[in-house]
Amino acid sequence: MTKIKSIRTRVWNWTGPTVPPSGNFCTNASDALWMKGDAMASFRFHQWLTCEVETEDGTIGIGNAALAPTVVKKAIDDWYAPLVIGEDPFDYAYIWEKMYRRTHAWGRKGIGMTAISAIDIAIWDLMGKLVGKPVFKLLGGRTKEKIPVYYSKLYAGPVETMQAEAEEAMKNGYTAYKSRFGYGPKDGMAGMRENLKRVEALREVIGYDRDLMLECYMGWNLDYAKRMLPKLAKYEPRWLEEPVIADDVAGYAELNAMNIVPISGGEHEFSIIGCKDLIEKKAVSVLQYDTNRVGGITAAQKINAIAEAAQIPVIPHAGQVHNYHLTMANTNCPISEYFPVFDVEVGNELFYYIFEGDPEAVDGYLQLDDDKPGLGITISDKHLKHFEIVE
Ligand SMILES: [Mg+2]
Repeated sequence: MTKIKSIRTRVWNWTGPTVPPSGNFCTNASDALWMKGDAMASFRFHQWLTCEVETEDGTIGIGNAALAPTVVKKAIDDWYAPLVIGEDPFDYAYIWEKMYRRTHAWGRKGIGMTAISAIDIAIWDLMGKLVGKPVFKLLGGRTKEKIPVYYSKLYAGPVETMQAEAEEAMKNGYTAYKSRFGYGPKDGMAGMRENLKRVEALREVIGYDRDLMLECYMGWNLDYAKRMLPKLAKYEPRWLEEPVIADDVAGYAELNAMNIVPISGGEHEFSIIGCKDLIEKKAVSVLQYDTNRVGGITAAQKINAIAEAAQIPVIPHAGQVHNYHLTMANTNCPISEYFPVFDVEVGNELFYYIFEGDPEAVDGYLQLDDDKPGLGITISDKHLKHFEIVE
């Protein structure tokens, strides 16, 4: 059996054109700070990490990370790569535990777990390529004819602009939409009204036969969310996402127990045990771990099992191909988040410029090929002139 011989990490800095997002396009955790200047800076990022794991026979698996790419690169290069080189990629569960336990003092959450995730995703791509099967076929196979997706954009902005965007998305056949709130606690009652106005305006366009999800990106607090929930109820949102900061698990549980709007979250939680806590405490009605942070596909599959046992649906965060493979292979993953292809704005879209092969949604669904080995993506050279690459 071929062994892992090297790990190559590259940071991709986007230097190409970007679309400037409108003022307060999405609430976020920095909103609580007394801060002048660009409060939205923590939301935008124009950097990505690719992580290529190569075996002795020359097969390369591709993983990636979008969280703090320069630091994750350093962590992989200095700490994780030496633990993985020389191992058989099919010993993925052992490799995962080795990475987790050998760096346990500092690696369990944040940068460390993001590095583990990038390597783990690459190992799954590698295994698929080595056996000539798509990753979802190694995870449980096809549980859906095709994957329903939800349109994930609709950043807060002028009401008419948001309505026009929803109108356009409807023409493309989407039946579910996620929008971002632009106002939070610091904006008081007037901001609440601005938030509600936009939800109402979107419902006007999409009606009540389509799903509408609402995203706070941790920009509210418990008090504000408790006051907002009853006001939002009549718009029948499918869920309210990350109303409070990721560490306030009790806050999530309290809001979810109000049973007015299902609460979702988990994209800033790490590892199996972190997600188990969210499930056990009934903090979320929909779990949205991010495979790039939670511990990769190996951890995601274990979390899927405990979520399924608790009957909590899993809808992984981010419209990236590794999440589609997990969704395809699990009955308990009903739908995928989908970032429509746009010019580079907040940075979510960058993977479209780095990779080739990400499936695109057609009429609100996307498809995975039964015969494409691995995750089905390659690193693209089409947009190289717009990147500064640090190796
Ligand atoms: Mg989110």
